[in-house]
Amino acid sequence: MKITRARVTAPQTVELEDAELNPRPDVVVIRNLACGICHSERQGWLHGPAGTEFIGLGHEPVGEIVELGADVKGPWHVGQRVSGYWGPGMAGYAVASPASLAPVPDSLPTDHAIGEVLACLVTCSRGWNHEFGADLCLVGCGFMGAVSVSGVRHSARNLIAVDLKPERLEFARRQGATHTVRADEDPVAQVREITEGRMCAVVGEATGVGAGLDLAVQLVGGFRPVINLISWLNHEVRLSNLARLDRGVVLRNPHPMYAPDRMEELRLGLSFAARGAWDLDDAISHYWPLAEVHQAYTVAMNAAEGYIKGVVRC
Ligand SMILES: [Zn+2]
Repeated sequence: MKITRARVTAPQTVELEDAELNPRPDVVVIRNLACGICHSERQGWLHGPAGTEFIGLGHEPVGEIVELGADVKGPWHVGQRVSGYWGPGMAGYAVASPASLAPVPDSLPTDHAIGEVLACLVTCSRGWNHEFGADLCLVGCGFMGAVSVSGVRHSARNLIAVDLKPERLEFARRQGATHTVRADEDPVAQVREITEGRMCAVVGEATGVGAGLDLAVQLVGGFRPVINLISWLNHEVRLSNLARLDRGVVLRNPHPMYAPDRMEELRLGLSFAARGAWDLDDAISHYWPLAEVHQAYTVAMNAAEGYIKGVVRC
């Protein structure tokens, strides 16, 4: 069948192209309904393809089953809303293995049922895993950091959000931060004052740059404090403050392999979202149609003013 899909054709350039989809008998064909834009796609978008390399986009899809292959078994039916691990999501249609699918709960709006990112929210929430009453701090108040910590905020004594941008600090405040601190206004002294010298048992690092990690190292305190490495660090980051790690800091990497079971993480994410555990209405700031996918990635990858998280409706 003929489909339309997004493709990175040059550095920072996304175009729609026609392609052919040839489903095998063991897959389902899915009409993509929506797909989240993920910051982990930034490297491919930034540098563009090498030669004829295909760089598709979108791994946070939600869709509707339109066709079942002859060999597909299980509880699936045409017309069913599903989320899961398939791609590309920035396309009209895609194929998926039934083993990678989960049904979308009826009460969950399609725009919020972007299961892969909900699974990541669950995993990053596991990364916060702290004692009740601990002081927590988030360095870098983007979608994944602020929403993951909002799910565990009621068990924190203080939840301190640190960022350079006032609008990001306001977002963190809406998501449940008890204190906000400007990263350029002596955050170490401010966190020391807020925590009465204890510093933080868990600091989430969600800037993805060395300076953010350096700051996180300075904000931890107590016995075996943890840095929850929320950032997707697929590039080199220098940690110039390494000497401070003499205090027994634990670096926790809450990324896919940290989940006990990735499919279970997806189902958990969908059920948490369906019962309103996260304020996704607030956290998803932008929507675009597939026809505007180039504009969508330009805004998202440059973290334009007011941008938190974007969804493309296919
Ligand atoms: Zn992602």
